Amino acid sequence: MATPAATGEQDVAGVPFFSQAATFERLWPSIAAHVADVMERGKYSHGRKVLELERAMARYTGARHAIAVNNGTDALVLLLRAAGIGPGDDVVVPAFTFAATATSVALAGARPVFADIDPVTYALDAASFASVVTERTKAVLPAHLFTQLADMDAIAAVARDHGVTVLEDSAEGIGMRWNGKHAGLLGKGGVLSFFPTKTLGAIGDAGMVLTDDDEIAERAGILRHHGRMGKTIDHIAGISNLSGASGTNSKMDDLQAAVLLAKLDILDEDIERRAALAAAYTERLTGIPGVLRLPTVVERAVPTEPVFYVYEIEVERRDDLVAHLTERGIGTETYYPVPLHLQPCFAGLGHGPGDFPVAEAACRSAVALPFYPDLTEEQLDRVADAIRDFFHGSQS
Ligand SMILES: *Cc1c(COP(=O)(O)O)cnc(C)c1O
Repeated sequence: MATPAATGEQDVAGVPFFSQAATFERLWPSIAAHVADVMERGKYSHGRKVLELERAMARYTGARHAIAVNNGTDALVLLLRAAGIGPGDDVVVPAFTFAATATSVALAGARPVFADIDPVTYALDAASFASVVTERTKAVLPAHLFTQLADMDAIAAVARDHGVTVLEDSAEGIGMRWNGKHAGLLGKGGVLSFFPTKTLGAIGDAGMVLTDDDEIAERAGILRHHGRMGKTIDHIAGISNLSGASGTNSKMDDLQAAVLLAKLDILDEDIERRAALAAAYTERLTGIPGVLRLPTVVERAVPTEPVFYVYEIEVERRDDLVAHLTERGIGTETYYPVPLHLQPCFAGLGHGPGDFPVAEAACRSAVALPFYPDLTEEQLDRVADAIRDFFHGSQS
C-alpha cells in the first residue's frame, strides 16, 4: 500500500470503523498455542477446543449451559425451536434491531410481531410490547443493543401477566448484567454472537446459546448437529415434539474456539478499555450543536453492568455527517438504517411509516463511530474533531 509520503499527499491517515490487528499481535503467542492444540488433535469442528470454550463461557456468564453453534443467527433459531416456538406462534420483537432478531423468528416457522423501542436504550419498550400482545403471543425476544440491557423487569412483568415466554437476543450482550445475572439468563434463554466486530469477536462466524434450562439446552444441542444424540445416527431422536423435527448443521469450528479462548483472557480488560474510550468520546462530543444524543446508561432499581459495545450517537443531518467523515477516511456504520417493520421481507405484515415512530427516528439520526479496544486516543480525537468541524462549519 502506498504511504502518504510516497504519494505526496498530506498525512490524512483515516480511522477505520473497526480493527483488531493490535489485539491479535499482542495475543499471538496464546492464539498460536490454542491453534497448535487444535492442529495436533486433528478434530477441527465440534471438537475438544469447542467443549473447552463452552465450559469457559458457562463460567464467565454463570450459565448452566453454553451451547456452541456456528453463528449468532443460528443460535437464535435453535433457541426459539428448542423453546418450542414454531408455526402458529407469534413472537414480539423490536422494530429497531439487527435483522436476525426478527428473521430468526420467521426461520423458526413463527411470526414476528413488531413493537417500538425506548429512545434511550434503543431496546424493546415494555408498554409497546404490552400493546401488541394477543392470545397468539407465545414469546417475546427483546434485543440488548450497544451498551445495556432492555428494561428486563418491566418486560418480565408484562410477559408474566400474559403467560408469554421471555427469550433474549443477547447477541451483543456479553458482559452486560442485570441484578448480577448475565444477559441471556433473565428469561428462558439467550444467545451470544462472536462475529468479528462483537465485544468478543472470532476471526469468522461463531455463536452460542445460553440457558439455565436443561430441556432447552438438550434440544438446542441436538438440533445443532442434524438431530444427532451423541454418536448415534438416530437423527430425530428425542426431538419429534419440536417444531420441524429436522436438525441442522450448526457446529462451531475449533479454530474459532481457539481464538475466542485466547481473547476471553483479556475480555474484562477490553470492557474496561471500552468504558474509558466511551467516556473520552462523551467528553469531547458534549455540547456540540447538532449532536442530539450521546449514549446514556439508565439507572435502574437494581444494579446493572453496562458494556460499551457500540458507541452510537444521534445527530442532525446524519447522512451529510457520514459523507463528511468518509471524506476524511473515518469509518462509520448506521445501526440501523431501516426499521424492520419497513423492510421488504416483512412487507407481508402490513406495516407503514409512522407505526413505530421511535424506531423510525433512530434510523434517521443514529450513527456508530469507530469504537474498539485498539482505537487510540489520538484516533478518537481525530473523529471528535471532524464531527465538531462539521457542525461548527455548518453554523457560520
Ligand atoms: C450480531 C447480531 C446478531 C447475529 O449474530 P451473527 O453471529 O452475525 O449471526 C443477532 N442479533 C443482534 C442484535 C446482533 O447484533
